This record gives sequence, C-alpha cells and structure tokens, in this order.
Amino acid sequence: MTARRQFLVQTSSLLLLLAAPDIARGATMVAVRVWPASDYTRVTLESDGALSATHFLVTGPDRLVIDVKGLELSDRLRQLVAKIRPDDPYIADARVAQFAPDVVRIVFDLKRAVKPQVFTLPPVAAYQNRMVFDLYPAEAAPVVAAAGSPRDSLGDWLRAHRSQLDGDNVVATAAPPRRDRRPGHSVLLALDPGHGGEDPGATGPGGTHEKDVVLLIARHIRELALRTPNMRVMMTRDSDFFVPLWNRVQKAQQANADLFTSVHADGWYTPQARGASVYCLSEHGASSVEARMMAQRENAADAVGGIDIHTQDYQVAKVMLDMSTAAQINASLKMASRTLQQIGDFAHLHANQVQQAGFVVLKSPSVPSMLVETAFISNPEEEARLQTPAYRHKVARAIFDGIREYLATRPPLARRRTLA
Ligand SMILES: [Zn+2]
Repeated sequence: MTARRQFLVQTSSLLLLLAAPDIARGATMVAVRVWPASDYTRVTLESDGALSATHFLVTGPDRLVIDVKGLELSDRLRQLVAKIRPDDPYIADARVAQFAPDVVRIVFDLKRAVKPQVFTLPPVAAYQNRMVFDLYPAEAAPVVAAAGSPRDSLGDWLRAHRSQLDGDNVVATAAPPRRDRRPGHSVLLALDPGHGGEDPGATGPGGTHEKDVVLLIARHIRELALRTPNMRVMMTRDSDFFVPLWNRVQKAQQANADLFTSVHADGWYTPQARGASVYCLSEHGASSVEARMMAQRENAADAVGGIDIHTQDYQVAKVMLDMSTAAQINASLKMASRTLQQIGDFAHLHANQVQQAGFVVLKSPSVPSMLVETAFISNPEEEARLQTPAYRHKVARAIFDGIREYLATRPPLARRRTLA
C-alpha cells in the first residue's frame, strides 16, 4: 500500500511537470523573434522540435492566418503579441489561440496586402528548429527580373539577360535603363553591410555583433559619398534585418550600381587572429585555404539568416550568380588593392595582398565588387576598436578613399560597357 501510494505521488508530479505551460505536446517554444523592416517583416518561431504549418490570407481587412501543428499555446508564444512594434510596416497586430488540441492558430492583422513565405529551417549554428514567416509586400515580391520587365519564367528572364551575361558587348536594354550613363554623370556606389536580423555574423568576446558594427561603418561611407560630387549611394540594408546573399547582388543590379562593396568584420576560433583583409571573387579557386574558409563562413549567412530555397527567385538567382566574368574580377582586384593600401596606412593587415575566393555576394556579372573584412571582431583589442566611432570613421574613410582612387584611375566597368 505504501509503495503504491509512493508511485501515485511520483506519477502525479510527473503529470504536473508535463502540464507546465511551456511544454507542448510536440515541440517546446524556445524563442519568438520579430524583425520588422521596409523590405519585409520576418517572424521566427524557434522550437526544440520540428513544426509544420498551413496558412491562408483573408481580405477585408487583410489578415494572415497560420495554423502551426505540433504546438500548444505557451507563455513564450503569447509574447509574440507584445513583440509586434507599432511601426512595423506590415503587421498591425497579432493574436494567438489554441485552435485544436495540437494546433495553435496565429492571426496577423495586416497594414497592407502581403505575399507570405512560410518555411522551416533545420537546426544550424546557435539555433534549434525554426519556423519562419516572411511577409513581403504583395505588389512588389522579391524578383530578380530587371526593372520594368516582368519575369514570367526563368527562361524569359535568362533570354532577357543573355546579352548582359554574355560579356563585354552589352546593349543598354539588358540592364535596367533607369539612369543615363554618359560620362560626367554620377557613379552609384552599392554598400552592403553584411548579415543582419537572424544572422548576427561573428560575435566578439565582449558581445559585439558583426551585423551592428558593419551597418555603422557602411553608414559612415554613405555620408562620405553623399558629400562627394557625382556620387550616389544605395544600401542593401539600412536596418537590422536579414537580406539573403543573392538578394544583395540583385538589389545592386536593379539599382544599376557601378560598384559593390560588402562590409564585414572577421571572426575566428582563437582571439589572436587580427587585421583587416580585402577579398574579391576568384575565377579559379581560392587564393588560400584560409580565403576559402572565409568564403565558406560568409556564404553560410543564408543558412543562419534563413532563406526559402524553394522559391523561383532563389533558383533564378543561383543561375545568375554563376556568370561572373574575368573583366569583372580584374576591375574588382584593382579597386580592392587600392582599398587594402588605404586601410594598411593605419591598421594592421591580416594579409598584405587582396585575397580571392568564391563569395556569393561578390558574384555580380558586371559590377566590380569587393568584400572588406574591417578587423577581427573575435580579437578583444580589435573588437574594442570597432566599438569606437573614431575607428569606424577611419575604416569608412579608408574604404571610401580606396574606391575614389580606383574611380579616378579607371572608369567603372559598367559604364564602359554601356558606352560600347
Ligand atoms: Zn561577415
């Protein structure tokens, strides 16, 4: 009798444990994150088990309804409601409710019509299973097509861009003809602050995220460029959200950028690694084992940041990104070596030569492109330097001067091309 009583007590405490609010029948919520941005708003549900979902849109007023299976309502999930910011461009409000015993219904009240992408991501880096809702504007879905030429299919898009992809003799119609490229007209500089949103990039021992410092540096470069005659700037992101690698390239191309500069801060497994480096694309393999590893780490941004690889846009981008030319790489190397020299004037260089490897973000078929690793954020001294506005200004000035020197000696590749 005593033994049986003991067993019952143990059983009931076990049941109580199972009924705790954050423990779901299938999976337990680990975190809920919301990343509002003008491009799109992302909502991430992170859980210790895989989830599945169905979703549908309702109009009048616009709502997005998502039924997540394998989940019970928990306090952590309820936090989603409080995490919607009043200035979110897409979501006005959110509601969560237990819709069926193992189904949670999430309703987003929308500020505008959206085109949602709902997908799951397997565990990667510090993340467990993620379910992602990306809310894009319905009227401007993320497409790779040239401006003003709607893309019906991959074939159409490739036909439209064939001449652009074939090499140097490119007709103006191949590129979006948004801008007059006659001599004397301004140069458009594309600045690409690495990482963002779900993808923090490298994190220093003091907790500094790469995504934050590189955005600040890019903004400094923008200030310098805007004070310079005949120079304009576009940024692939200007707030804390994730931009897929192919989308960074696409944004620069759609804007008809003349040059592309991606800004990063290195991370390594040991605190000793230090110094800045500048990278370009390579035609035939990486210039060193380290350069190849660096490219692999930076290219992993898409896995950490999270993209839906099943979309047509992504498939098209993959084709496009394999069409870089030797001319683009040669021009990029010239710009990169000028920049490396400028940085070397005041900072330690990790490598004295421009490094080359297969960085996805540099694979623009016609735009001279470089990636600057401004310092090692994993090195405590360099992390401390990156935290100071004075140092960030210095780095920005060096990158900008490198670009300007390059422009002074050589007209942009894209300009020569369209003049042909
Ligand atoms: Zn990076």
